Amino acid sequence: MPFRIKRYYGYIIATIVSLSLPFITIAGNHIFLLSFDKKQLHLMGTVFDMQELYMMPFLLMLLFIGIFAATAIGGRVFCGWACPQTIFRVIYRDLIETKLLGLRKRISNKQKNPDYSKKENIGKRIIGILLWSILALIASANFIWFFVPPEDFFTYIMNPSEHGVVVGMLLGTAAFLIYDVIFLKEDFCIYICPYSRIQSVLYDENTFQAIYNPNRGGEIYDGDKSKIVFKQKDLQEESNECTTCEKCVTVCPTHIDIRKGLQLECINCLECVDACTTVMGKLGKESLVQWSSNSAIDTGTKTKVFRTLTYMYGAAIVAIFAMLFVMGGTKEYMILDINKEARLFKIKAENEVTNSYLMLFKNTEPNKHTYKLEVVGKYADQLVIKRFKEATLKSGASTKDILILSAKEKMPEGNHQITIKSYATDEPDRVFLFKELTFVYPPHSKLK
Ligand code: SF4
Ligand code: SF4
Repeated sequence: MPFRIKRYYGYIIATIVSLSLPFITIAGNHIFLLSFDKKQLHLMGTVFDMQELYMMPFLLMLLFIGIFAATAIGGRVFCGWACPQTIFRVIYRDLIETKLLGLRKRISNKQKNPDYSKKENIGKRIIGILLWSILALIASANFIWFFVPPEDFFTYIMNPSEHGVVVGMLLGTAAFLIYDVIFLKEDFCIYICPYSRIQSVLYDENTFQAIYNPNRGGEIYDGDKSKIVFKQKDLQEESNECTTCEKCVTVCPTHIDIRKGLQLECINCLECVDACTTVMGKLGKESLVQWSSNSAIDTGTKTKVFRTLTYMYGAAIVAIFAMLFVMGGTKEYMILDINKEARLFKIKAENEVTNSYLMLFKNTEPNKHTYKLEVVGKYADQLVIKRFKEATLKSGASTKDILILSAKEKMPEGNHQITIKSYATDEPDRVFLFKELTFVYPPHSKLK
């Protein structure tokens, strides 16, 4: 099966995943949602409040190291097989312009742009732009669903006058996609995308890429990258197999000649591999352009997928996953900040000693809860909560309050480390956390 068809399957899977992911929820929480509106991050069905975004650096590290590892092993595999830019260009250029409207003659020739000024092409061009504009709006909405969940998004766009930001994002992103896919085209990959700039430093001898075999095909370019062979008869040795048919060049969406070697414009779509496979196949030979590595081409051995570099990336990814797992396991189901007031203690009538604390309570759960506090551990029998009974908070709501603890009986003077347990009355075994506080008991000489 040609790589082009395999890529199409990849695009279908990527599209289904991208369109369905925002709608999948676990216990009411999304798989991935970065909501600026509600100041929450949903990850695999767990909600993290903005104050708990200690996971974010690990997620970013995972993203970057994952990209570096994928590039070191498979080159720009993401560009050719899953990048929205490539998928959108294939939809517009190969499906709409070529297959549906016949504006372009063949998928195998991406060099020749249609003459849009021709009378018979103007109508087709307009239909093409309209079709892509509809798809661009869907793609734009899909992008926004990762920041504004679909359940809110559809309510918001029904009322555009009150939700100008969301409507503006939707139209702005769609407008960019229309300009990008129809007018900017592969120039985005070549001149704007930063990934193409860093890819070459991540490559090594064993990185998979579209690669021409000059040992079999013959050198088409000299050391200065100037073309020295234009036609078959120019080839100095008859043993050189390249027919100079240029099929690998005309099919290339970024308009490069892979026989020149690795170039930052190459998006790893492997169309050139398919093209040469067809040409060489007719001659009963193997393709001169292959998805292989420099070491395999030079030595004729297999590409080493498992090597020091990949082990190092693998170890880094496992370590970050372990840290994420540990962090996820210590997720707090509410935010509770308790700070002692400046005054260390108060001695009331009958030698009652109290300590006051300033408290910030926030419900980070998707459901409404009523929270209670209790003193637990060593001092559970000696201290009582004098102020703060319970707080009922809906999802995302917070409250500030004063907490006053009182010593029921005489305690040793000095600082005492005490433990407070906070829990939701409806789910005390799941939604709870412990806080360590300091209770100060005055010198006994100060008591009456
Ligand atoms: S050289 Fe062109 S056709 Fe070949 S993989 Fe790179 S971008 Fe695709
Ligand atoms: S498709 Fe193959 S045979 Fe034709 S020019 Fe390219 S490398 Fe040479």
